[in-house]
Order: sequence, then C-alpha cells, then structure tokens
Amino acid sequence: MMERSYDEAELLEKFKDFDENYKVIQNNIAEAAIKSGRSPDDVHLLAATKTVPCELINYATAHGVQFIGENKAQELLSKYDQYQLPKENIHFIGHLQTNKVASIVGKVGMIQSVDSLKLAKEINKRSQALDLTTNILIEVNIGEEASKSGTMANQLEELIGEISQLPCVKIQGLMTIPPITDTPNEARKFFSNICNLSVDIRSKNIDNVNMDILSMGMSADYVEAILEGANMVRIGSLLFGKRIYVN
Ligand SMILES: *Cc1c(COP(=O)(O)O)cnc(C)c1O
Repeated sequence: MMERSYDEAELLEKFKDFDENYKVIQNNIAEAAIKSGRSPDDVHLLAATKTVPCELINYATAHGVQFIGENKAQELLSKYDQYQLPKENIHFIGHLQTNKVASIVGKVGMIQSVDSLKLAKEINKRSQALDLTTNILIEVNIGEEASKSGTMANQLEELIGEISQLPCVKIQGLMTIPPITDTPNEARKFFSNICNLSVDIRSKNIDNVNMDILSMGMSADYVEAILEGANMVRIGSLLFGKRIYVN
C-alpha cells in the first residue's frame, strides 16, 4: 500500500484543506494545552504521513508542521529522499520487524514503537555499527488488547531496565494507541493510566532513561490525550483528509 499521486488541481485543493485543518488543530492543541496547565509550545504535533504524497507532506512541513511519522519502513524509504525537513524530525511510528531495522537506523530521529528487548537490541546493534545513538519510545499496550503491539504495563519497568543497559539506544518516553472506544472521552482513562506510568518511571531516575515524551492521541482523540498529559500527538486523517490506499 503506497501513497497515491494527485494531479495539480487536486493538489491545490489538498493544500487548501490542509491549511484549514491545520489552523483548527493548532487552535485545539493550544486550548487543550492551556486547559491542562501547560503552554501551547509544550505540545508537539507530529503529522502521520502514511499514504500522503510527498508534495503534500512538503507543503505541510513548509507551513509549520515540525515532525512527521511514517509507519512502514518501505514507504519511509521510498519517500525519504523527497522529505524537506531534518532527519531528527522524521519519526518511525509503526510496528517494526527486526529485519527492517538496519534500513531505517540512522535515517530517523526517533523510533516510537519499541516494544521488546529483541527489537531494542537490534536497534542498538545497528546504531553501534554506525557509531550513533538512536532515540526511542517504548510502546505500551495500555488497553491490554491481544491484537495490538506494545508491551503490557506490568512488564514495562523490567523492559525499560533491560533496554537502559544498551549503550546506543536512548529511551525518551512512552507511546501508545488506546483501544477504540465509542466516544473519545472513554479513551481518557487509558491516557491517564499511561501518564501515571510515565510519572512513576520518571521518579525512579533510571540511568540512560528519560520520560520527556508522551506520544498519544490521534485524529479522533488528540484533545483528550492532551488533557491527560500527552506532549506529542500523532495526527493523520484530520490533517490530510481520508487516506486513500492504492497498491
Ligand atoms: C496512522 C497513524 C496515526 C494517525 O492516525 P489518524 O487517525 O489518521 O490521525 C497515529 N499513530 C500511528 C502509529 C499511525 O499509524
């Protein structure tokens, strides 16, 4: 499944839609940040760019979007040379197989979806080979759903303890995708639970670990996520319109 391409008229339409969507989202982010006792600048918007063509991604990053996230290694690589932002601001946010790690280490500023020691060790090994350190988030399966990736909450501390020993990965926080709920309000308890986990872990002052980033909230629930402590929201369809998959 790759991004589709647009003709020129469609692109102009897409740019216009983006401008409107971005303005609304920025206002909502600012409002939720203030409501939760923070400054609007403390909450970062990451544009989830799967299926979005590079012309539109580059329009978004030229007009204020600072972070983008791709969720498939193959799609990231196929678009990589066209992105126009520093690689530190390109994140990997999808499920990552160990055999794809080598292809993306060194190309992204953060891998947000680390959920096993095995995966972390592979990232460490590939980072070491390139003489660099890779920033990661630990993905937590906060709803304990069988179908989802992410580590379970009761294994989180042990996993972080083990990963913190690896010299070439650096844990910068947590990421989650909560269960689908009927209303965004019902997601708040999951967001609140992971925020508490993050506070707990921070209080332990583990070497080589910080909890600076709490990445949660998507198109349907980013406001609720911010109200519960998110400082990075990952938004796709609300920014760019409904995803159209072609293959
Ligand atoms: C696609 C995606 C998002 C954004 O989803 P929307 O509902 O379109 O905002 C966020 N996080 C991850 C990991 C994704 O793959």
